Amino acid sequence: MISESEARQKILDAVRPLPARNMPLLDALDHFVAEDYQARMPLPNFDNSAMDGYAVIARDCKVGARLRVTGEQAAGVDRKLHVSSGTTVRIFTGAPMPAGADSVVMQEDVTRDNNEIVTNVEVEPGEFVRTRGCDLADGQKILRKGDRINETKVALLVSQGFREVSVGGDVRAAILSTGDELAPPGDKLRPGQIYDSNSVLLQLLVQRCGGTVALSARCSDKATSLQKEFRAAAKAEIIAITGGVSVGEHDLVQSTLRGMGAKIEVWRVAIKPGKPFLFGTLGKALVFGLPGNPVSAFVTFLQFVRPAMLTMMGANDVDLPKLSVKLATDERNESERPHYIRGKFTDGTFTPIGRQESHALYGLSESNALLRVETGETLKAGQMVSIQVWC
Ligand code: AMP
Ligand code: MG
Repeated sequence: MISESEARQKILDAVRPLPARNMPLLDALDHFVAEDYQARMPLPNFDNSAMDGYAVIARDCKVGARLRVTGEQAAGVDRKLHVSSGTTVRIFTGAPMPAGADSVVMQEDVTRDNNEIVTNVEVEPGEFVRTRGCDLADGQKILRKGDRINETKVALLVSQGFREVSVGGDVRAAILSTGDELAPPGDKLRPGQIYDSNSVLLQLLVQRCGGTVALSARCSDKATSLQKEFRAAAKAEIIAITGGVSVGEHDLVQSTLRGMGAKIEVWRVAIKPGKPFLFGTLGKALVFGLPGNPVSAFVTFLQFVRPAMLTMMGANDVDLPKLSVKLATDERNESERPHYIRGKFTDGTFTPIGRQESHALYGLSESNALLRVETGETLKAGQMVSIQVWC
């Protein structure tokens, strides 16, 4: 048995970023930028009004001053208007500033009198003007290689005239759930059967990480069934198998993989839940053998498969987000393996949820975070702890 950090290092050592590709911006959510991006133009790109009002010269605006309205500038087409002392131009939010004007007085702060306004306030130079480049300078770095693309980054790229973005490669995953007891979702269960929930769990986790599910299959606990599916799965970048990686007579995943020439780099990791975890390579595919118990499969996916996938996709941060929160209960880890406790964080507090056993899917479904408690560690209710969050 090796430590979790050793296992993780062996996995990351075996992983290479995949070749980058261009992707339409609308499809790029949750992918990782494959190169640095610089601003192509300043933001805003021209001086414009932040308010509906009147473009003025600030020093003209005394309380009670009268200014002649010489034109109107709406957002859209720059009419190339001009403001000189004693005059003003009616202006709307987002409209280009007329030459000569240095500020905008809000329409609420003037009284309109036919083709004149009376200003009811003093105005500072620059007031309610969004100056060219005040948000973003031309050439400024806007995205760093490895950044995750979220909605606001897509919006920024669009504001810069991009249609596409270069992102890290596509990780195609084959999902194989193994076990004679597994029935497809919704089928009538025969005595002794259970629904194959891991298959959908893993498919959704792969998609949540930004990967593509290339294949999903269920296999029985027979070497021939496993061989057939492993062969098909080996075309994918990663193979995520659940079940059959433990030490029982029906756990044939490891022996079958070895028989097919797979190299097993990691087997059994000091992590709870998730000890019977396997990692290796089959041809060019990375193989992750996850325990069949749903919580173990989930935890080992997050700790081992996710970082590998994100590295292949070109991410620069492959860890789950961490939060510092208050622990609601006393916790002690008596086991010889670090324990990932499932729980819920709300309002700055983490509360362990449900049975902390590796089959307990309900408690997991109510959780949104993991607390890692080291072997022999005692934690007290009320103390601050670092948790990993996944949603
Ligand atoms: P195994 O890792 O094959 O020894 O399975 C450990 C436990 O996980 C057993 O109780 C299995 O019935 C259960 N299990 C295995 N595969 C799945 C699956 N795909 N969905 C839900 N439970 C599973
Ligand atoms: Mg099994």
